[in-house]
Amino acid sequence: MPEDSWVTCPRCYENAAEKLRADKKTLIESWEGETEIEIEDFEASYYKSQLEYDRSSFITFRQNYKFYWAENDLIKWVYSGGCSECGLALLERGEIKVHFGKKELKG
Ligand SMILES: [Zn+2]
Repeated sequence: MPEDSWVTCPRCYENAAEKLRADKKTLIESWEGETEIEIEDFEASYYKSQLEYDRSSFITFRQNYKFYWAENDLIKWVYSGGCSECGLALLERGEIKVHFGKKELKG
């Protein structure tokens, strides 16, 4: 049975994290040489950047996976996912070897 879900896009999230780091660096540099910084300015800048970095803002990646029998001792899986914002697309397939053993019959 396929499982479909929406999760945080790793690429969008990392891009946002990179932007946040750059914004913080710019902000700190803009204060260089200042002897006084208004606390309201500091808080407004700091909290604004924190809000933009909220993981729940990047739930744009739809993933789907499925397991299915292939042979007696082999389970195959397929995973796919895509982001509606950045276009990240993944498709992976694999196999898992399993050993069931024999059921012991009594009597
Ligand atoms: Zn994305």
